[in-house]
Amino acid sequence: MKKVCKITAIVLAAGQGSRMNSSVAKQYLELEGKPLVYYSLKAFEESRVDDIILVTGKGQIEYCKNQIVELYHFNKIRQVIEGGKERYDSVYGALQCLKNTDYVLIHDGARPFITVEMINNMIAMVREHSACILATPVKETVKVADTSHTILSTPDRHSLWSAQTPQAFHYQSIRIAYDKFFDNKDNIEVTITDDSMVYELFLKMPVKIVAGDYRNIKITTPEDMIIAKALMNGN
Ligand code: C5P
Repeated sequence: MKKVCKITAIVLAAGQGSRMNSSVAKQYLELEGKPLVYYSLKAFEESRVDDIILVTGKGQIEYCKNQIVELYHFNKIRQVIEGGKERYDSVYGALQCLKNTDYVLIHDGARPFITVEMINNMIAMVREHSACILATPVKETVKVADTSHTILSTPDRHSLWSAQTPQAFHYQSIRIAYDKFFDNKDNIEVTITDDSMVYELFLKMPVKIVAGDYRNIKITTPEDMIIAKALMNGN
């Protein structure tokens, strides 16, 4: 029998959502009368996760505590903390708040269609592989181009995946990777856009891909809200 271990979810909701052209941060835009972030929090609340940390923007902590945690009775949200400038700052802040946890699942609060089943599957996978992410095969042909938009190369589509969240890691390992990243932040030439990248670059250990779902979209631009409404209504 596997030992009992503690699983924590970090739900990120500290972005500005500048590509959304909205005065309300995208994770708090309403979908079917509830803030977007509600849907992923509900899935984590009903999953095998033990604790949730909600990371929010400056000045939004009270709103989250009153209008989300209390209103919807989210008992697993133990902390609501303020995020940082970049996504990776928000993640590192949350990782530093954790103690006595075995595995972490890091999730974009702007992905409302994550399911309890997907979360529980990720928990089973991370216990086996130490690091895994949800991803889907890319549908389009992807081009690598220079700054003047001239194509440099076309990678073989069969080896390309679109990374989603949650991304799940053995806590101590991702913590070490993030510590190394922050120690070397000034010498890094690539832009860190997900947590797996930190693990790949600074731990150089394998990360397993778990088949995601095309419905697990990240709400980024206004068109995504139209798609989200359709998905919500089962269209
Ligand atoms: O900006 P992007 O779409 O990559 O954001 C992904 C997730 O990370 C969103 O849920 C957003 O709220 C969160 N984020 C954050 N702190 C930031 C930037 C983004 O928590 N500084």
